[in-house]
Amino acid sequence: MDILEPCYGYRESQLVKMAGIFPYFQPISSSDGPTVTVDGRTLVMLGSNNYLGLTHHKDVLKEAHAALDRYGTGCTGSRFLNGNLDIHEQMEKELAEFTGKEAALVFGSGFLANLGVVGLLGSAPDAVIFSASENHASLYDGARMALSPRTRVYRDVADLERQLSKKASWSNALVVTDGVFSMTGRVADLRGIVELKRRYGFCLYVDDAHGFGVLGQNGRGTAASQGVNDEVDVLFGTFSKSLASAGGFVAGEARVIEYLRHRTRTLIFSAGLPPASTGAAHAALNVMRTDPTIFTRMWENAEYFRKGVEKIGYQTLGTATPIIPLFIGSEARAFRMCCDAIALGMFATPAVYPAVPKGHAVIRTSVTAAHTREQLDMGLSVLATLAERYPLPSVDAATLPPARDTDLADTVKQMLLEHGASLDDLAAGSV
Ligand code: PMP
Repeated sequence: MDILEPCYGYRESQLVKMAGIFPYFQPISSSDGPTVTVDGRTLVMLGSNNYLGLTHHKDVLKEAHAALDRYGTGCTGSRFLNGNLDIHEQMEKELAEFTGKEAALVFGSGFLANLGVVGLLGSAPDAVIFSASENHASLYDGARMALSPRTRVYRDVADLERQLSKKASWSNALVVTDGVFSMTGRVADLRGIVELKRRYGFCLYVDDAHGFGVLGQNGRGTAASQGVNDEVDVLFGTFSKSLASAGGFVAGEARVIEYLRHRTRTLIFSAGLPPASTGAAHAALNVMRTDPTIFTRMWENAEYFRKGVEKIGYQTLGTATPIIPLFIGSEARAFRMCCDAIALGMFATPAVYPAVPKGHAVIRTSVTAAHTREQLDMGLSVLATLAERYPLPSVDAATLPPARDTDLADTVKQMLLEHGASLDDLAAGSV
């Protein structure tokens, strides 16, 4: 087989575009945080991870600019060699203090941190990784990188307990879980997992990409909010969400971090986090530490918006975070509704399989501290219009069987056929 054959045979994105329901890769030409411009139109951004709304905060912009001026545009190499900045180390010191851990390590992105660290820890002799089924792709890929790839997926704490109960001790196991699951906003039961940890002695890795800067006192995260921060062996966070930047970190025991610093390939063989990104994340951390009103605004906005969408009739899967999923079920319908939303002035994206179970598509909305009530009302009015256009599942989403059009590509093919276009037309480029 020609190695490029899969590329030449790939048609799914074209199919979805032809069906007029392609919601991805929207070209944003400017942003002020709560609104963005796409194709010359201003849209309320209700699909970001900018929970604290800090991407345009004056202190964050100022520190990013100052770092840019002082160090230039890039590190031009790995931290291991020529790209280690004093502000990387300062950030690590402050993150360690803030998270209550002995030390921290800053990476070029969160994905690189998960990939490298889970891959490395999971490569210890006899290591077994237990991974929550809803975990982020970077944790799945980290487990795949591990040299001894014995990974077991668990659904919930009861399932984890059932799998662990086969042995008395699991000191060779790494349990990896998101603190807040990114697509549904569901919060992991870290207290339950820690109870199991006390019994079975495994090592606990928490990816708190969506909990850090959101839950707990001053946004210390999911584990802190459940009173089990000390039991987390490796705490992961990203700078790309509440910290309004890019980059990622892990924090833990000094001996562990020292090992990771010298052995994690995604740190050693990838360029250091750019100066401006480091400065921005540092300033955002400072806002978290010093301005409690930002959390009040985020929670008030999240509550206002959640109540608003529930009043319209959307199921929000019991969310308790600023991630407010709107359960749709049908993947094609979620795509169509997101495209309609953009046409009506609101930006949000669908989450479909494998990010959520097949046929359990959601529109993932999220609210930030920077939204005004008028902007949230604008979003609610778009969602009310959509609810008039499309039927919403009215019963508890968890009890619903998957929607029938679970295979988006097949659904789209069907839609095309109904419009008289065939796959052959598509292949021939005649449509
Ligand atoms: N973990 C989770 C749960 C995430 O949602 C993301 C980003 N979508 C990452 C890790 C990766 O973080 P980054 O954007 O910093 O690469």
